[in-house]
Amino acid sequence: MKRRYGLLTLMILAAFLAFLTVKEDIFRKPQQESRINIPQNLSEDMDLAGGPEREVRGFPKREIVDLITMYPDLFIASGDSREKKVALTFDDGPDDVFTPQILDVLKDKDVKATFFIIGKRAKGYSKVMQRIVDECHLVGNHTWSHPDIMKISLEDAKQEVLKTEELLKPYYKDSPDRIKMFRSPYGSIDPKRVEYFGDIGYKIISWNVDSLDWKGLSAEEVKTNVLENVTKGSIILQHSAGGEGEDLSGSVKALPEIIDALKAEGFEFVTIDEIMKDEQEEDKQEKNTQK
Ligand SMILES: [Zn+2]
Repeated sequence: MKRRYGLLTLMILAAFLAFLTVKEDIFRKPQQESRINIPQNLSEDMDLAGGPEREVRGFPKREIVDLITMYPDLFIASGDSREKKVALTFDDGPDDVFTPQILDVLKDKDVKATFFIIGKRAKGYSKVMQRIVDECHLVGNHTWSHPDIMKISLEDAKQEVLKTEELLKPYYKDSPDRIKMFRSPYGSIDPKRVEYFGDIGYKIISWNVDSLDWKGLSAEEVKTNVLENVTKGSIILQHSAGGEGEDLSGSVKALPEIIDALKAEGFEFVTIDEIMKDEQEEDKQEKNTQK
């Protein structure tokens, strides 16, 4: 008798466990719905091939400084240090959660920025992509699937960039001779790759102020990271879309405050093409004074 009860309990337990496994999604759903604004269970199109920014980032600053010295015309991390101008840049978009909110802020503040676009995301969110262009922001290339280009072949990296270039082209019907700008995912790049992309006509655009918003920081933290490090000619890095569960609401909330604070200091907001022109002007003048 005792043994029969034991067996029965075991069977009930097994059935219950099986039910839990099969119906796991039923138990997950309410949790998902209670979280607002943070992308969950994103489609494959939103996947970052090299992994989430928060797990992969951490490129040594020293190496960036080396690349600036080695390739002053190819590798751009800031503009003219005498001009009170800054460039806001937003990586990893578009999406339909954070990118539209950022566009709303930029429109409200009458500021133009530069978006480094992931090709496959632009394909999935063509309306948001169109809005970026219609509202006169500048667009750069951030690969098709966001791989770490140090971990794939040069040929594969090139295909990632060219495929995105093809997708961006129709958005630039009227300016076929625009400057081609490439920002490497995770900021991961070496001299060989800088030269390689330089040879196929790209400027590599880095930054000198990292908001660190990819860590899911609060608005206050994002604002502090930007305002405490900004100088004349700064290129500022933020993100306009995240990976699964990545929360950029702090970054979005900080944006109007960052813009107001910098405007109050007398800074002008420009796109990357403009800040690059200033930087080249500064180089020329430096060379002239050396003569
Ligand atoms: Zn990125």
